[in-house]
Amino acid sequence: MLSKEMDPLAVEFYAACARGRLHFQRCDACRTWRHLPRHTCAACGSAAWSWEPSSGRGRLFSWTVTHQASMPGLATPYVVAVVETDEGVRLAAGLLDADPAALRLELPVAVELVPVSETASVPFFRIA
Ligand SMILES: [Zn+2]
Repeated sequence: MLSKEMDPLAVEFYAACARGRLHFQRCDACRTWRHLPRHTCAACGSAAWSWEPSSGRGRLFSWTVTHQASMPGLATPYVVAVVETDEGVRLAAGLLDADPAALRLELPVAVELVPVSETASVPFFRIA
């Protein structure tokens, strides 16, 4: 999955997931968390930042239920959610084993890092 064409910051993000660590960038100047990875802070413009570990927990911010498989073998329906983590970072991710009828805003979720290659894992979430 990780290729030479990917942004090096994205490679770092997914490689850390493969090592079992969900982390996000945090601005060293104003302490704002951010995701997707980028080189400068959208809040203050600083180029100084660090990777900091996420709790791996969050709440359901939004979701969509897909009933048509986008590739062969993909079980439907499946849920793609926007999760707001405890750090305030929002990310789109699959929601594993979720009953679409049981979903509601603010439902607690926890991350599960799913390997997609030898060097990369992708964050999914489960209802906590
Ligand atoms: Zn900042």
